Amino acid sequence: MQDQLPAGATIVPVICASDKTHLTNFWGDQHAWPLYLTMGNIRKDIRRTPQKLSWILVGLIPGPPKGAKNADEAWHSAVATVLSPLRNLDITGPGLKWNCANEFRRRCYLHLAAWVGDHPEQVMLAQVSYGCCPMCEIPKGAPMGQSTFRPLDNPRDQHLYSEFLDETNIDVLHTLCVHPIHNQFWQYPLCNVYRLWQPDELHQLHQQKVQKVF
Ligand SMILES: [Zn+2]
Repeated sequence: MQDQLPAGATIVPVICASDKTHLTNFWGDQHAWPLYLTMGNIRKDIRRTPQKLSWILVGLIPGPPKGAKNADEAWHSAVATVLSPLRNLDITGPGLKWNCANEFRRRCYLHLAAWVGDHPEQVMLAQVSYGCCPMCEIPKGAPMGQSTFRPLDNPRDQHLYSEFLDETNIDVLHTLCVHPIHNQFWQYPLCNVYRLWQPDELHQLHQQKVQKVF
């Protein structure tokens, strides 16, 4: 990635986190998405210490009312507004001139590198059907370990999906469990929306494997 940027550039990988949060039970079942942001350049031990305040709240995305149409598109549009500086960055341009902690002034290039979220957040971002893998095209419901389809043999490809959409090849997208809409995360430079996820031991190992087996 450094090769694609001008000499002397500093990459600033942006990590986002979101989780749908229930607000009220008996007053319209209100919910909202707090959207948090941090940088990958911050040391992991500091980033993981809440007292260091390395995560900042950049937005509180309101949830649409129950049964609202185009709720996913509305969520994407709201997140796109908050994260627009990431989408508009020109990787061939001068970047953003920031003062670093060691008093040097650097040309920084932000890009969306990772997203921390559970499965509902992942399918919302990837715009795939619930229960499908947001990273690869393994068929929905394929039994784990008993399928000839190995995970990541067929990684999801945003360029291919964009072409299918332009050619109105909707049936293929449905077969691959992809919603036939332009995902705004396809437009982010140096970002692959199907590769934003980090291993989540609590949900993926404990809840999905241990609890189902025992
Ligand atoms: Zn997969």
